[in-house]
Amino acid sequence: MPTAKWSKFGTSIFTTMTQAAIKHDAVNLAQGFPNFDGPDAIKEAAIKSIQGNFNQYAPSTGIPRLRELLSARMEKTSGLTYSPGTEITVFSGATEALFCSFLAFLSHGDEILTFAPYFDCYPAGAFAAGAKLVEIPLRTPDWTFTKEDLASRVTPKTRAILVNTPHNPTGRVFTRSEMNMIADVAKEHDLLVITDEVYEELVFDNLAFTRMATLPGMRERTVVISSTAKTYSLTGWKIGFTYAPPHLTNELRAVHQFTVFCAATPLQAGICAALELNDNYYETLRREYQERRDFLCDGLKSIGFKFHKPEGTYFAVADYSHMSDLTDQDFAMWLTETKKVAVIPTSVFYNNPAEAATKQRYVRFAFCKDLATLKTGLERLRH
Ligand code: PMP
Ligand code: GLN
Repeated sequence: MPTAKWSKFGTSIFTTMTQAAIKHDAVNLAQGFPNFDGPDAIKEAAIKSIQGNFNQYAPSTGIPRLRELLSARMEKTSGLTYSPGTEITVFSGATEALFCSFLAFLSHGDEILTFAPYFDCYPAGAFAAGAKLVEIPLRTPDWTFTKEDLASRVTPKTRAILVNTPHNPTGRVFTRSEMNMIADVAKEHDLLVITDEVYEELVFDNLAFTRMATLPGMRERTVVISSTAKTYSLTGWKIGFTYAPPHLTNELRAVHQFTVFCAATPLQAGICAALELNDNYYETLRREYQERRDFLCDGLKSIGFKFHKPEGTYFAVADYSHMSDLTDQDFAMWLTETKKVAVIPTSVFYNNPAEAATKQRYVRFAFCKDLATLKTGLERLRH
């Protein structure tokens, strides 16, 4: 007789708020997907691939050309070299890569540390592996942490640290010194580090993006996870990938071949065209997102929201505690139903949402929408 093993995870907050946005005809600043598509050249490459009979299973590890291009891009952006044959693997989105990482590297009773608030699939991955997700709450209002915050949570059961930078939902891009603190704890306690870098190209104000694997002694203990979803504005394609040394890649590949086996072949071919875009593409992407960030944040500030300005990603979390006594979940629903602007409550990104909701009042706004949509959202909030 099947049990209700997974029912506690219910419906994802992204699904819930998008459904509420549709129901109430609200501007959807909740779920993080752009309301514009990536470049036509990428779509055309995928269409050509479908029409050119390139539609059967890809190699489980990913089509070779894509892995070669990913290797070249990583070398260009970080100086790190990864072998396409033994160190790079293509997944069905970063979500699958994360899930496979949890299953590959954690066993029953193990602990994995991550900063809270965190992306919603992390607890589910830990649960699937029988592991415990131990949260390190980032300190408000700047979403920082100390080495002690991290080190004090390491136990004999800790196996790994999962680091998401640029960070969803806070928009933090961890500084080199913060990344060094994490690296030091990992080395001191012989921990694996899994880095979720899906917003790697969305770093603003010419800030430096420090990749964990570039720090001394970290490449061999780091699994880098990224995705084409945000970089190429194609969130529905679900093409993600990992970079990791061979001994870690072998484990990941073993799990991946029995979860989905391979990501969609023609979409992998399409993404090859994405990786052939020139530097101009990335510069424009960043410039346009920075413009959207400034537009949204200036508007929210003039309305009275308080926040730490996001350094990266396409999210801003805003403090409304001086405006309303509603919990963040009620406030998000109220904004959706009454103001017709959907947002995401942030307490759901903690291990104990009810407790988090008593301590802070933050909602997340997504600015991966064209300026006209952001303008409509701000006008509605202003009234
Ligand atoms: N990690 C973070 C922090 C994210 O925000 C997302 C966005 N969905 C993902 C992973 C998943 O990426 P993908 O859509 O490629 O599965
Ligand atoms: N990453 C997106 C966000 O944070 C949502 C992804 C999803 O819906 N699974 O809004």
